[in-house]
Amino acid sequence: MIGSDKQAIEAPSAERAQRIIARCRELALVTEVPGETTRTFLASAMHRVHALVGSWMRAAGMSMYEDAAGNLRGVLAAADPDAPRLVIGSHLDTVANAGAFDGVLGVVLGVALVEEMVREARAAAVAAKSLPFAIEVIGFSEEEGVRFAKPFLGSLAVIGQLDADTLARTDASGVSVADAIRNFGLEPAELPEALLDDSSFGYLEFHIEQGPVLEDEGEALGIVDAIAGQTRMEFIFTGQANHAGTTPMGSLRRDALAAAAQWIGEVERYANDCAGLVATVGKVESSSRAGNVIAGKFVATLDVRHPLDEVRRASVAHFIDNAKDAGRKRGTTVDYTTSIDQLAVPMCSDLSALLRAAASRTTLREPPYITSGAGHDAMIIARRIPAAILFLRSPGGLSHHPDESVLPGDVEAALATGVEFLRTLRDDRAMLGRIAGRALRRKRENLHA
Ligand SMILES: [Zn+2]
Repeated sequence: MIGSDKQAIEAPSAERAQRIIARCRELALVTEVPGETTRTFLASAMHRVHALVGSWMRAAGMSMYEDAAGNLRGVLAAADPDAPRLVIGSHLDTVANAGAFDGVLGVVLGVALVEEMVREARAAAVAAKSLPFAIEVIGFSEEEGVRFAKPFLGSLAVIGQLDADTLARTDASGVSVADAIRNFGLEPAELPEALLDDSSFGYLEFHIEQGPVLEDEGEALGIVDAIAGQTRMEFIFTGQANHAGTTPMGSLRRDALAAAAQWIGEVERYANDCAGLVATVGKVESSSRAGNVIAGKFVATLDVRHPLDEVRRASVAHFIDNAKDAGRKRGTTVDYTTSIDQLAVPMCSDLSALLRAAASRTTLREPPYITSGAGHDAMIIARRIPAAILFLRSPGGLSHHPDESVLPGDVEAALATGVEFLRTLRDDRAMLGRIAGRALRRKRENLHA
């Protein structure tokens, strides 16, 4: 194993990309549901995942451990114990019947980047510990929110926000988050030790786009400028159920479905005309059970996302006004509730620019900025330290599906970009000092604020 690992580390970059893909596919075989890839928070299958990824971390020269939230942590130390630390990570859990790359790719790529840095140090005949910064790779235990209907348990733990309420949440069989941690052989009381090291100055996440934009633009890579804020609501249109044949059209008819239908059309029209806005009525339910009954009640969900919170809020206000309008003309009323009102999370412009420059130098193409419509661990980590995300094109825009894939050339480009990013920080000490110094200063200010 060690022999073949060593060979692979020294292989050309196309082979190294193939090896990253093979490792993701190997992890996809580790599952709690035979015949598919399903790994929820700290299910027993996660032991095998940690054993595999942990062995790759150790072979790469990292020390590794599991923290009390079940995150797998590998650290390549710097020569100076007080050196700043760069964190690279993503998640190891999956949705039900998942693909092989969502989350996992970011962890496997992180380990591969450490291998590359160690290899370059060896080639230059200097010790692996010669880097002026430490690298920590984190495989988060939970991002998808499948088991406890709350996402980001792993990343919340490392910023100290896995609170008592969350620890008391229970899954479908009545097991609490705290008990799930104990059942996995870990100790919830040790959660404070899971906090990011004080020296951590930046977080980098490699993730598949999970959408069709980069493929449509013919781009292998994209730099995430922000994770879109989102609003989720439910609208209830209320009219009067009645006979479809005997109730004339016009003022004697109060059709809740017709009011909602006009509103749904306006949601699509408005979003089509507003750059960067996505608005979706995804789930509807009519009270009418028969074709000859006017709907007295109609329930519809609304999901609105945009990178700028003010645009999202203005759009939501318009959709509320429009729903009331559609009702007024028909004598129907509308009630609404908001279940999620989540602010947009901008990524760090310094780290993103550095990542973009690294991608431009290695791929000879300037990757576009792209807004992430989905949440990622980076948006949680960004509450504590600057974060950046590199997206890889998703063939067919497909994700959360067994056919989810990546192109080997795109993985090669992402690996080369990551290596170039790390080389810049390694070789340009002034740049490292600026970026790390600014981040650590801001963190101290926030802690004291
Ligand atoms: Zn993911």
